[in-house]
Amino acid sequence: MKEHLKHPVFKVLADIAAQHTIEAYVIGGYVRDIFLERPSKDIDIVVLGNGIEFAELAGRQLKTKVAVFKNFGTAMLKYHDLEIEFVGARKESYRANSRKPIVENGTIEDDQLRRDFTINALAISLNAANYGVLVDPFQGISDLQGKLIRTPLDAEITFSDDPLRMMRAIRFASQLNFSIDDKALSAIKKQKERISIVSKERITDELNKIILSPVPSVGFKYLFDTGLLRIIFPQMANLYGVEIINGKGHKDNFYHTLQVLDNISLNTNDLWLRWAAILHDIAKPPTKRFEEGHGWTFHGHEDKGARMVPQIFAQLKLPLNEKMKYVQKLVQLHLRPIVLAQEVVTDSAVRRLLFDAGEDIESLMLLCNADVTTKNEYKVKKYRNNFELVKQKLKDVEERDKIRNWQPPITGNDIMNAFGLSAGKEVGLIKNAIREAILEGEITNSYEDALRFMLEKGKEYGLQPAN
Ligand code: ATP
Repeated sequence: MKEHLKHPVFKVLADIAAQHTIEAYVIGGYVRDIFLERPSKDIDIVVLGNGIEFAELAGRQLKTKVAVFKNFGTAMLKYHDLEIEFVGARKESYRANSRKPIVENGTIEDDQLRRDFTINALAISLNAANYGVLVDPFQGISDLQGKLIRTPLDAEITFSDDPLRMMRAIRFASQLNFSIDDKALSAIKKQKERISIVSKERITDELNKIILSPVPSVGFKYLFDTGLLRIIFPQMANLYGVEIINGKGHKDNFYHTLQVLDNISLNTNDLWLRWAAILHDIAKPPTKRFEEGHGWTFHGHEDKGARMVPQIFAQLKLPLNEKMKYVQKLVQLHLRPIVLAQEVVTDSAVRRLLFDAGEDIESLMLLCNADVTTKNEYKVKKYRNNFELVKQKLKDVEERDKIRNWQPPITGNDIMNAFGLSAGKEVGLIKNAIREAILEGEITNSYEDALRFMLEKGKEYGLQPAN
């Protein structure tokens, strides 16, 4: 086991422990990640005694500053690229209405018992008598091998004491592709309502970690099956289900959305692009209609979906900034390349798409590609071929017309100067007409063409050139 504590800093900590006859252990995520072979920079040290005093001794030895959090009884220091946190071993007990426990000093086993999952309760000794020995009273290693999320204590008590652990269980399952053990799973189902005592920010932190995991559907299926999703994000839970009228059904939009999310996650680690995948069809339930002789339709779900984005971001305490606008834009435009791929692709349609998507065109194409989830091989092939065509056209048109991040060659000011106008309706009308004419390919994207076009338009509105 000694070889697990490769970093020289552990020897320094062990020497301090020996000199001051204080027992110390490395504990928690760092130990778990050693066995998962996921290198980690966050080290938690637990000592049988005063964690802050131990940290100060370590700070002196390592010649680095110590940040003390007196209220929490913890201290932290940075050493090279490591962040090391120190705490005294604790025994915890909980009350019904709070995630804050009553804390007393405890043994190493008490401290391991207060950890959420067996895989997070592993400790390695820093003590001379058994340096480097793994302390694993709850079979955490066996759960790592069996890929299982299990609680050291009774699962119902664990989740009721601190309901954030329900989100953490699902988050670890999704990040590591582990299963949640049956007892823990039924405990989450029973305790799900207690998630309401956790702050929205903490819930969303965990949700974002689920979204960023390698196959996010693993976590979302757990969120849905436990009933947590309906509480924390009901709009997404509403995507679930298939309705049948006159023998005609539609696809289950919940599982479709998960497939799109998994697909896009193969090509991007960007949280916001993954959010766009989650939200692209979010307005399908409220726009769903059965039209006689036609079947199921979801007309306008992209517009309504885009309008729902700010409200969902606010509800989940996600940032209401340019990230939100980016997600909104992708939801709004998500059908456009698909529609293009189904039709004969004209230059003007491509120019319009480039103009509307601007610098987010690559994200939009990734989203659209991910949105092809049909099992029909023929259709998949057709879509993919057409997509390649659209991509090529996008490239050609962009090279030729430079529409991306484009501004028409004639500005509002130019128009006002040309006709001696002050700001007003005509200026906007002429400006729009120039832009439309260029996007439609009626005139080229050049100053000369635009100027000629502007003078003609002016005439139509009865305007005379200023000189
Ligand atoms: P990651 O760094 O991926 O978030 P981690 O396990 O290191 O994983 P932290 O939140 O830093 O996560 O927690 C460190 C350790 O503290 C955990 O491994 C676990 O032992 C314990 N812990 C954290 N949160 C809780 C909790 N809500 N209930 C019980 N133990 C917890």
